[in-house]
Amino acid sequence: MDGQKEDAPGCNQERRNRITGLIQRTGSAKSRAVDVSEYIRASVAGQHRQTLAPFGLPFDVEGLRRRANELAGCSTLLRLKDYFEIDDYRVETFRCRQHLICGPCAIVRGTNNVRSIMERFEVVRRTTAGRIYPYLLTMGVKTGPDLAERCRHMAGNWRKLLSERRVRGWRQGNELSGLLGGVYSFEAKIGKGSEREGKRLWNFHVHALIFSPEPLPVQPGIGSDGKARYYWPEMSERWRGLTGDSFIVECHPIVDRSRPAAVAEGDAMDAVVGDLADGSLIAAVCEVSKYAVKVADSSPADAVEAWASLRGRRLCGSFGAFLGVDLAEENPRLSLRELAAYVEYLYRFNAGTKGYSIEGFRIHRGVPDGATKAVIA
Ligand SMILES: [Zn+2]
Repeated sequence: MDGQKEDAPGCNQERRNRITGLIQRTGSAKSRAVDVSEYIRASVAGQHRQTLAPFGLPFDVEGLRRRANELAGCSTLLRLKDYFEIDDYRVETFRCRQHLICGPCAIVRGTNNVRSIMERFEVVRRTTAGRIYPYLLTMGVKTGPDLAERCRHMAGNWRKLLSERRVRGWRQGNELSGLLGGVYSFEAKIGKGSEREGKRLWNFHVHALIFSPEPLPVQPGIGSDGKARYYWPEMSERWRGLTGDSFIVECHPIVDRSRPAAVAEGDAMDAVVGDLADGSLIAAVCEVSKYAVKVADSSPADAVEAWASLRGRRLCGSFGAFLGVDLAEENPRLSLRELAAYVEYLYRFNAGTKGYSIEGFRIHRGVPDGATKAVIA
């Protein structure tokens, strides 16, 4: 690295771009959340406060209104602290923590998941002697009208698959037994084409990022949309055996796209990627980090139905080496924040423009060098 070419700490354009992108994404997510909140309030307009809430939710109309108000107030003011000295930033705001119906809360949760998975991956990579082959495994169940029922079907069989992978005594294990571990999350959306046929059917599936010490027997093929796919026939068979109605299994090797030659030669998996900056691993991590319902892609009615069906359920998890990795010592930046200087910006959401605008800023000086030394000593 040519140190002289590095930008001064305060001018890191990449961090500025990330902040701008985050504020824009949060703005459009916030605008969707306002729509959902209005949809909920309209659905109980004029109803008595102690009437039972609609959508099968286990509280009364007053409780539903309170949640809709919290949703409407979520992330209205953002306090962004830009730690230019340590190339870091942090957003503070009131959050409603209803990530199934709230886009801004889903973004925060997704971002935290990405950070946590990458930290775990670093730990696993440091403590694993051989090569690691990552895959993005996607498995679904047949679509159906009742989301809660599809969720039980999918999640129950997925957990069975994970518990079967542990070889114990007479137990043989399964296709997942050799894995180092993985992280996963469930996702619900309205099935493609189901509305056109006059039916409204839920598609419920799992995305798992799995890590293997050797290549998995996946086979390239072409999907019904004409795009390249990777299938895993043995796993399809097992999944059909477990679920009785579903065999949809895709398993994509995660390769370093910056080395197309390796991809073409079929030893793509050898190209995996040592580098956290690699876009394809990050893309897969983002895929498993998204929370359950892409609020941004659903109508308010779909989002509220999914919320009513899925709230309170565990919709993500990890296994193997990715379970119980101690992250306690992995983030020294957290303590640096206490000492570093930052610029604090105040952003306010504007319903008219469906985005945020800056209301003001102030500069906080960090702890002076002498004090830093005293603290560290
Ligand atoms: Zn929220």
